[in-house]
Amino acid sequence: MAEEARDSLEVDVLFVGGGPAGLAGAIRLRQLIRAHNERARREGSGRALEPSIALLDKGREIGSHAISGAVLDPRALRELCPGFEVEGCPLEGPVTDDAVWFLTGKRKFPLPIVPPPLRNHGNYVASLGKVVRWLAAKAEGIDLFPGFAAVEPLIEGERVVGVRTGDRGIDRQGRRKTNFEPGIDIRAKVTVLAEGPLGTLTKVLVDRFRLDAGRQPQVYSIGIKEVWECPKGSLPPGRVIHTMGFPLDALTFGGAFIYSMGEDLLDIGLVIGLDYRDPRLDLHHQFQRLKTHPAIRPMLRGARILGYGAKAIPEGGYYSMPRPYLSGCLIAGDSASMLNAMRLKGIHTSMKAGMIAAEVVLEALLAGDTSAEFLARYEERFRASWAGRELWRVRNFHAGFSGGLLPGLLHAGVQMATGGRGLRDPLPVEPGHLKLRPLTGGNDGAAAGTGDVVRRYDDSLLLDKLTDVYHSGTKHDEDQPAHLLVRDTTICENRCTAEYGNPCQHFCPAAVYEMVPKEGGGRRLQINASNCVHCKTCDIMDPYQIITWVPPEGGGGPEYVKL
Ligand code: SF4
Repeated sequence: MAEEARDSLEVDVLFVGGGPAGLAGAIRLRQLIRAHNERARREGSGRALEPSIALLDKGREIGSHAISGAVLDPRALRELCPGFEVEGCPLEGPVTDDAVWFLTGKRKFPLPIVPPPLRNHGNYVASLGKVVRWLAAKAEGIDLFPGFAAVEPLIEGERVVGVRTGDRGIDRQGRRKTNFEPGIDIRAKVTVLAEGPLGTLTKVLVDRFRLDAGRQPQVYSIGIKEVWECPKGSLPPGRVIHTMGFPLDALTFGGAFIYSMGEDLLDIGLVIGLDYRDPRLDLHHQFQRLKTHPAIRPMLRGARILGYGAKAIPEGGYYSMPRPYLSGCLIAGDSASMLNAMRLKGIHTSMKAGMIAAEVVLEALLAGDTSAEFLARYEERFRASWAGRELWRVRNFHAGFSGGLLPGLLHAGVQMATGGRGLRDPLPVEPGHLKLRPLTGGNDGAAAGTGDVVRRYDDSLLLDKLTDVYHSGTKHDEDQPAHLLVRDTTICENRCTAEYGNPCQHFCPAAVYEMVPKEGGGRRLQINASNCVHCKTCDIMDPYQIITWVPPEGGGGPEYVKL
């Protein structure tokens, strides 16, 4: 398309992503500008600023893609909105009870003492979607653009000058439909990327500017969850349970979380390290197995499914943070690996990162200097903040589990006793897809890895992938270009079938990838892109790294209204 047909919009500061980091950053920037202008007026010194601030989000509305029944550490929220409790922040209630269980196939063994990182006294059970929508309502003076997917960064030389949003109204063959609208170029003095895990624009910038040079590779987990409405009065409010063991084997990193939320909602999920070995492991199926455990099944008796979702969790932490600044751009939150994997919490650290980004952006606007040299203070300040220090104390956590659960627990114990240093610092990690073991003895590409406990889905407690996708509210316009780009499908049909048994069929929690019979014999890859819940697992775990997730048309994807 000719460049002149594309509209452009100029703003001073652009936030990409309406999650905790982006919204906290935008709100903090407004607060700081207000305080600066009042000071300037009072003291008759300095100049008042009225920068334009915009925020884009690819979800249909702000909060649509915010998955998580979360346990929220309110530290950053309290800094941002000191009166959040009286101002009606929609938290489900304080955590009243913590437990950690070790599960075998049939039994549970509660740990006598909850390890300090998993203690949640003073924290709140929350629906992230509700909190994010509440924050969006507080974002006065900020132009919010939900339904707009940023698809590429605008780069001039070494500088990021904004983003391009995706075209709308292109059919699956790439032709313009009658409702075609070109994306727009949004140019900004500073762009803050807060896109969540494996952000599309962040990935482009990390590759192009080698922002990961000298850092550890990123490692991820996936969190798969459902929200259930239980019979009235059947749940103790504010109870938080974490588990280890069943349904995962001793070599696979992960565990479950079970949170009692308000209104008799039970949030149940399974985290699985995306560095597992068996290419036939079906992640969604493992989650279904979790619900069959005798300690868990009774909690769901008489319950009704309300929602489903999945999301990648960046677990590399402190040592895997890419350089989070370059000329005209900052990167915050999950996109920059700012999550505490030991506590399984990243909302508070993401919000803090967004708030620090806001401080640095204001200073840059006042100085008229948005160069990489100036913005470098963002990384220094984040690492020196309470959030950076928190990540430092757990800097080797996920790496400690590379040998399995038992060595991992040993490492975690030593790390806690040594302020994060552990037995070796840094502990090496490798990208998770390299851990997949090729199959021995060949494979016919048929579905496998279905485990040994659940073989039938009963549509009430045990749900298949398509039923769960329905409960995620996922919708995409079917007639649009595929947003899952597979560089060479002959690799899928030949090498991958033989070497790994097409693990995309098993790791995708939304039945997007299917190997179907091909005319003339053999199997071909079929991509059911409209099922995609945007978890990014395929981009992370594909053994040949030939899958790239790109944003579909803005507004498409899950609708996590109830989560
Ligand atoms: Fe997740 Fe990829 Fe499946 Fe979409 S296609 S749900 S991003 S694994």
